[in-house]
Amino acid sequence: MADKTTIGFYGASGMVTGSNFLVTLSGEGKPVKLMVDCGLFQCEKVCDEKNREPFLFDPREVDVLLVTHAHLDHVGRIPRLIKEGFSGAIYSTAPTKAMAELIMTDSMGVLRKEAQAEGKELLYGEDDVEHTMALWESVPYREPVELPGGVTAVFRDAGHILGSAMIELSRNGKTVVFSGDLGNSPAPLLHDTDTIERADYLIMESVYGDRDHEDKESRKHLLEDVIEDAVSRGGALVIPAFSIERTQEVLAEINDLVEHKKIPEIPVFVDSPLAIKVTEIYKKNTGYFNKETTATIKSGDDIFKFPRLHFTMKREESQAIAHVPNPKIIMAGSGMSNGGRVVEHHKRYLPDPKSTVLLVGFQAAGTPGRMLQEGAKEVMFGDDTVPVRAKVVTIHGYSAHKDASALFGFVEPVADTIKEVFLVHGEPKSAMFLAQRLRDYLGLSARVPQHGDVVDIDF
Ligand SMILES: [Zn+2]
Repeated sequence: MADKTTIGFYGASGMVTGSNFLVTLSGEGKPVKLMVDCGLFQCEKVCDEKNREPFLFDPREVDVLLVTHAHLDHVGRIPRLIKEGFSGAIYSTAPTKAMAELIMTDSMGVLRKEAQAEGKELLYGEDDVEHTMALWESVPYREPVELPGGVTAVFRDAGHILGSAMIELSRNGKTVVFSGDLGNSPAPLLHDTDTIERADYLIMESVYGDRDHEDKESRKHLLEDVIEDAVSRGGALVIPAFSIERTQEVLAEINDLVEHKKIPEIPVFVDSPLAIKVTEIYKKNTGYFNKETTATIKSGDDIFKFPRLHFTMKREESQAIAHVPNPKIIMAGSGMSNGGRVVEHHKRYLPDPKSTVLLVGFQAAGTPGRMLQEGAKEVMFGDDTVPVRAKVVTIHGYSAHKDASALFGFVEPVADTIKEVFLVHGEPKSAMFLAQRLRDYLGLSARVPQHGDVVDIDF
């Protein structure tokens, strides 16, 4: 039916966040429009503006929305899409659906604060989230979903966070693959990233397009060392952690270290309501875990339960952590320390030379987490300046993204099927670096599309 097919790059293009792509099949009759992700732009200040910019398409004309995974930069503008008239089906895996609802609801709090501070209208309301969920269907990995325009979609395991998927669209023997975010396999809990067989067009993430992760193999030993050191120094160990995947990974690692008596039993607090709710979803979806984790669970070990582990849901419980004698471990959001309960813990323990901060996630430029990572002697939280006397340690190996070598390794086996690679979800420097590497070593046509670009494809 289609005479012409295009891909519109409406987010995460020339930048990391705001994932949003639109495949348009035009021919006789009404064009078919298939969207992949509709995420929030996340950064300091300017992003609020970006999230309010009009969509570069008419949401009412979009037929289907396919969602790769539940991170806010992939789902955060979906309720706005609904508010502006989208009424088609939404597809994702079951864990993505469950976590997306939590994430979208949770983000309402932040959006409300921002809107109030600037006297602006709320980006979307609770009822928009409700309408969103009413349109949402879940599909298993590797099971074909028939879409309008004679297109078949398949969700393949991306190994990035629970339920994360690459989305493969095929039609007339041709394939377009949206990688979503690709996991740093082997990951502590998840299966390795599925392989793909062909991709005429590959729209691939490039967050770490110019860097390799240093300590993936040794991450668990490093974690053990950091905990032992923190215990011997007698302070608190504060771990700012992302609510999805990182918290559960670190918990499972600590569970293993405790069960094998490699570290002493000290109090461990998961002090984030969102992370606690997400952990509940992990517990209900153990079928998505890798072989090793499944074997551990089958042996009777609850990987999210060990002596002296506390989930502090209520604010009073969170405040009471301060009265628990050191040493202790506190895991709290946000992962970049730019909000959430971790801020109070930082204010208390950063000035304490016996305490430790362990960074296990990506720290964006301008965030308190990045400042800590770069050795700042003091850090601002709102109007408070907090001196940093605690020890600050980073373990890079827990990244949820493939590094440059692994991204290259993902493309290489299917290189001879590829007509063009589009590198997205990366800072320009890292996307461009990877594009050059794919051109130089695999002879591929690779480019970094810019926001608003619409590209013809032969599909
Ligand atoms: Zn992600």
